Amino acid sequence: MAIEKFSLQTARDLDQIDPLAAVRERFQLPDDVVYLDGNSLGPLPRSTPIVLDNVIQREWGQDLIRSWNDNDWIGSPQRIGGKIARLLVPDPTKAPAEDVIVSDSVSVNLFKLLTALVRRFPDRKTILSESHNFPTDVHVAQGVADAFGLSLQLVSRDEIVDHLDREVAVLLLTHVHYRTGQRYDMAAVNAAAATVDVPVLWDLSHSIGAVPLDLSAAGTQFAVGCGYKFLNGGPGAPGFVYVESSQQDCLRPLLQGWLGHNSPFGFEDEYQPAAGLRRFLVGTPPILSLLALESGLDVTNDVDREELWEKSCRLFDFFCGAVRQECSEMMILTPEVPADRGSQVSLMHPHAWPINNALIERGIIGDFRSPNVLRFGLTPLYTRYEEIWQAVTGLSEILKTEEWKRPDFSRDTLVT
Ligand SMILES: *Cc1c(COP(=O)(O)O)cnc(C)c1O
Repeated sequence: MAIEKFSLQTARDLDQIDPLAAVRERFQLPDDVVYLDGNSLGPLPRSTPIVLDNVIQREWGQDLIRSWNDNDWIGSPQRIGGKIARLLVPDPTKAPAEDVIVSDSVSVNLFKLLTALVRRFPDRKTILSESHNFPTDVHVAQGVADAFGLSLQLVSRDEIVDHLDREVAVLLLTHVHYRTGQRYDMAAVNAAAATVDVPVLWDLSHSIGAVPLDLSAAGTQFAVGCGYKFLNGGPGAPGFVYVESSQQDCLRPLLQGWLGHNSPFGFEDEYQPAAGLRRFLVGTPPILSLLALESGLDVTNDVDREELWEKSCRLFDFFCGAVRQECSEMMILTPEVPADRGSQVSLMHPHAWPINNALIERGIIGDFRSPNVLRFGLTPLYTRYEEIWQAVTGLSEILKTEEWKRPDFSRDTLVT
């Protein structure tokens, strides 16, 4: 529906007819906060403390070490990977549950896949990525390049395809850019890379649970992603590794740990990688964090993916329309064409840092991304249109009253 005048009433009308309105009840959100930062740390699902209490009191407290078998702790990286697989490929016959495994942080998973991939092409010279990609992606790639005597080539997103040739051992890209919200055409990049036989490793940290994905249709073979953003897995939740079935047994991990061994309890000196993706496990999985992730994931998996994206688009349109009406000096950085963006709105302003702090003081939580971006995550599982209206009118008041000039809003903090 086209909205002519954005107001509290139009927001409330949209909330009234929102088919996902009831899903918000599955989260524990403070009353006095407008939370637009679920793309950095998803909120607490109400089920998670109950799940964790059972895991701690009964499975850990009573069942003790028997839980590895009796409560399937040992199978949880695969089981939860299978639940993530449903968000990566809609048709379960196209990507079996075994194509995803949950383990470690995104950074460590990047290292695992990058090293395994560069080992496949010992004669190639470079790792290619985008300049201003997420820092950890660039740092890990630089470390791998140094260790293997390769160079890391960083180019702007328009130049990526031109730099693809048979010197490139791997192309590492983040599907949705953390700062701008720009989204790559995954299928087009994969197709261009395939012509010169370059494997593409996609970082889906800002995509999983946020935008519709079909890795199988896009021809994606390698991906990693994050568990604590749109998947609501909790602070520091483990990430995941996706490798398309035909590629799994061709990759030999460099980080070879005992749980990736063919027979972990054979206690052999010689390393034999497990068949399939289990070879990308390293050490003992963090069971409490894994089971918190599973609880968050179950909420997303209960919701229709199309409805999720449709609401994200409506929230985006409402946000941008209200920004143009109420605070036109803000520049919208995120592309407005749905296929070209993730589930966020990034606004540019030279004083983004103190403005963001002034918003936080009003209970409106988005985040600041250096040097001049205000970033707001759109999380259709629980965000209300009324909250979008509150955020935009709050922003407008902060600008009009110049409230952001208060000296303490310019203070430094460790985490932005
Ligand atoms: C959030 C994010 C990460 C996080 O990495 P961790 O190792 O889990 O801290 C990595 N890459 C991208 C693109 C991200 O957005």
